[in-house]
Amino acid sequence: MEGRQDYNLLVIGGGSGGLACAKEAAQLGMKVAVVDYVEPSPRGTRWGLGGTCVNVGCIPKKLIHQAALLGGMIRDAPHYGWDVAQPVLHDWRKMAEAVQNYVKSLNWGHRVQLQDRKVKYFNIKASFVNEHTICGVTKGGKETLLSAEHIVIATGGRPKYPTHIEGALEYGITSDDIFWLKESPGKTLVVGASYVALECAGFLTGLGLDTTVMMRSIPLRGFDQQMSSLVTEYMASQGTRFLKHCTPSRVQKLPDGQLQVTWEDLTSGRENMGTFSTVLWAIGRIPETRSLNLENAGINTSPNSQKILVDAQEVTSVPHIYAIGDVAEGRPELTPTAIMAGKLLARRLCGQSLDVMDYSNVPTTVFTPLEYGCVGLSEEEAMARHGEEHVEVYHAYYKPLEFTVAERDASQCYIKMVCLRKPPQLVLGLHFLGPNAGEVTQGFALGIKCGASYEQVMRTVGIHPTCAEEVAKLRISKRSGLDPTVTGC
Ligand SMILES: Cc1cc2nc3c(=O)[nH]c(=O)nc-3n(C[C@H](O)[C@H](O)[C@H](O)COP(=O)(O)OP(=O)(O)OC[C@H]3O[C@@H](n4cnc5c(N)ncnc54)[C@H](O)[C@@H]3O)c2cc1C
Repeated sequence: MEGRQDYNLLVIGGGSGGLACAKEAAQLGMKVAVVDYVEPSPRGTRWGLGGTCVNVGCIPKKLIHQAALLGGMIRDAPHYGWDVAQPVLHDWRKMAEAVQNYVKSLNWGHRVQLQDRKVKYFNIKASFVNEHTICGVTKGGKETLLSAEHIVIATGGRPKYPTHIEGALEYGITSDDIFWLKESPGKTLVVGASYVALECAGFLTGLGLDTTVMMRSIPLRGFDQQMSSLVTEYMASQGTRFLKHCTPSRVQKLPDGQLQVTWEDLTSGRENMGTFSTVLWAIGRIPETRSLNLENAGINTSPNSQKILVDAQEVTSVPHIYAIGDVAEGRPELTPTAIMAGKLLARRLCGQSLDVMDYSNVPTTVFTPLEYGCVGLSEEEAMARHGEEHVEVYHAYYKPLEFTVAERDASQCYIKMVCLRKPPQLVLGLHFLGPNAGEVTQGFALGIKCGASYEQVMRTVGIHPTCAEEVAKLRISKRSGLDPTVTGC
């Protein structure tokens, strides 16, 4: 292999970042190959091309979230005159089949797109032989050597299993399995406080399943904590049970197939037990770097996170090897950032542009039953960075119009805008809790990316009657101590 370069660019990982990078580079004239391989989950779940987002992340998650929201709309419907026959039942099998078929169509679509753009696709598991060469192994054990001038690592991550809890690996599942279950998971214990944990617990509750979330410490670490509390408060009001400051110690299978979970209540020190049909671990993710033999190419990783260290140009410790997406240290674990980083990297490699990815003010949304969208800094981060005296927070509790006729409780519908205090009061962060939070936040993200000030947001004319217009009406600052409840539209 010495000196032979099969490709201009070799991309390891056919997920959000890898596919975007490969397609862009091929379009710009490079000879490109993508290698992708899905190691089945410990439970044996496997899927096709497209990575986490398509198969076990954003796409099936949002579709099942929608299924759960529809349940709420069916309950609203009689208020609006619909005669809905009771009881309304949900069929997990039917939903799962429809979602899984859609995901399979996306897998196929990705293969076709690679073919159309003349990107060579290999279904092999790659590891480095040296800094220009990888060895790929097929499911059947056949080895292939590939080499390239440039190599992009976009291998993402996988859910973490606890290592110290008896029965955790044997009987538990993760987000790698939940979307591919053919049968309803039934009464479920979700362990973790990550957005994945809360989103899964939210849709399971919404589908009518008895759902408990067990968390050791705070929910949604890294997000604004006031908003995070409101998210869980709303979930609790909708029927999700929370076991806070608790940690599981053992999972045992009972003769009837149910799972008996033993946990410790960290506040009282007492041991408790409960029986569930499914235990879902959502305690974080680990980067897929372990089987890559990165040391053969001299690629450095962070000793703490095991993620690949990169600079602003996505370059690793080896100048012609790059890492993008979830596997790269310090990057948001989000599909759009992986895609944009991949495209921009391809353009730089092809000499088309010098633009580097700007990771600031990346908007995101947590798709819990009441959705939480945010962009920019949390209130805590803003205070820590700028000092409490330099930060002004405008906020409001509001009632979405849709909630009125349906007599829904809107206690947690809340918006806050974190600004610099000094005029014109640059917006540092926007936090929106309510229906369609993703759509609302996406729109305001442009303004905030462009450096919008509070004054400019206040001069923005609202669209009536929407929830988004409430952002442009935020007049009450937290400092004033006035009641931030907005009455009616
Ligand atoms: C439940 C869940 C919900 C999510 N929801 C959202 C959301 O709503 N919005 C959002 O923006 N993000 C969401 N994400 C995050 C998003 O899915 C990831 O940030 C994104 O997929 C990362 O893309 P990537 O290219 O880095 O890696 P991935 O998409 O994970 O792709 C990596 C690919 O590389 C393959 N691979 C790994 N090792 C090798 C190897 N040695 N050889 C060959 N192939 C290999 C993997 O099998 C995989 O196919 C969610 C994630 C989860 C788990």
